[in-house]
Amino acid sequence: MAEKRDYYEVLGVAKNASEADIKKAYRKVAKKYHPDMNPGDKVAEEKFKEAAEAYEVLSDPEKKAKYDQFGHAAFEQGAGGPGGFGGFDFTGGDMGDIFGDIFGDFFGGGGRSNARRNGPRQGPNLRAAVRITFDEAIRGVDKELDIALKDECKTCGGSGAKPGTSPETCPKCGGRGQVVYTQQSMFGTIQNVQQCPECNGSGQVIKQKCSDCSGTGYIKVRKKVKVSIPAGIDNGQSVRIREKGEPGINGGPRGDLLVNVQVSRHPKFQRQEYDIFSTEPISFSQAALGATINIDTVDGPYSYTIKPGTQTDTRIRLKNKGVPSLRNKNLRGNHFVTFVVQVPEHLTAAQKEALRNFQVAMGEIEEDPSKNESEKSEKKGFFGGKKKK
Ligand SMILES: [Zn+2]
Ligand SMILES: [Zn+2]
Repeated sequence: MAEKRDYYEVLGVAKNASEADIKKAYRKVAKKYHPDMNPGDKVAEEKFKEAAEAYEVLSDPEKKAKYDQFGHAAFEQGAGGPGGFGGFDFTGGDMGDIFGDIFGDFFGGGGRSNARRNGPRQGPNLRAAVRITFDEAIRGVDKELDIALKDECKTCGGSGAKPGTSPETCPKCGGRGQVVYTQQSMFGTIQNVQQCPECNGSGQVIKQKCSDCSGTGYIKVRKKVKVSIPAGIDNGQSVRIREKGEPGINGGPRGDLLVNVQVSRHPKFQRQEYDIFSTEPISFSQAALGATINIDTVDGPYSYTIKPGTQTDTRIRLKNKGVPSLRNKNLRGNHFVTFVVQVPEHLTAAQKEALRNFQVAMGEIEEDPSKNESEKSEKKGFFGGKKKK
């Protein structure tokens, strides 16, 4: 390799440049020479590697101090060994890693543990549940949820490292997050790639953990989130709230919040898709004579006229009195009502009398029912049956 250029020169910053300035400078250079922007350009690739190496050292206070004191010699003796710089290998996805890291930092992302070979990625989705009433499901409702979720730790800016320190490249895997074990067998050399046990695949180790987040880069918080539940939602369906889930990775957007909606049963109405079903009790005389009654619907009482001679279990359809469609509020299902004729249980003497008279009128019994009853028991055979001519 040719004579190494001064790291400050590579990034184009002064020796007394601040951490932020170094980051900014690296971002500019890295963007300019990134392989994705310069496909097949070997010179650009070299420059990109050079910048990444410079940044790797200058962004780390400990390494920077060593470099300031000893220059490149500070890292030469340890080349290849643990803790040395030589283990750093800029091939394949690693370039992307560095790139992802730096941009992740700029966009305020956390997600150290998944930083490998990733650009910004959306964070994991979060699930929550809310219970609403049957009527709220019909009309739609706004609910405020109290959600426990992760947020970036303000103390360390999501890095997980104690303020003033930064995560360091893992000495075991050199930042690759993977280690290759080579075995000799009778068939030749077998290479076995495994996740690095030292850094759990993150490629970075945190020597001094941030005390506020124990090195995770996240803190648990509770947040109030408003969820608008649309009219027509059914039990078990979910509402998706974009980017209200867990924090993004490498500066990616937050995951989504998926709110599962549980609809409580209604004492009277049952739902099937967009139709509502209920039963409505009617009296015997209403069924026989016809009547105008109020039927319970989700819109309130609905006036309906029963035809004379309505049988029990007669089902009618109230058009567009069902559940509104989730897609179009103006489209609604139907409400099916089944009439159930009620048989009176506790009758007064007057009511009994009236019903006996009715029976006589129907020809079911004799004029004098009490007499008829006693005669019936005495001379069963004579009448022979219920009906008498
Ligand atoms: Zn922290
Ligand atoms: Zn490692």
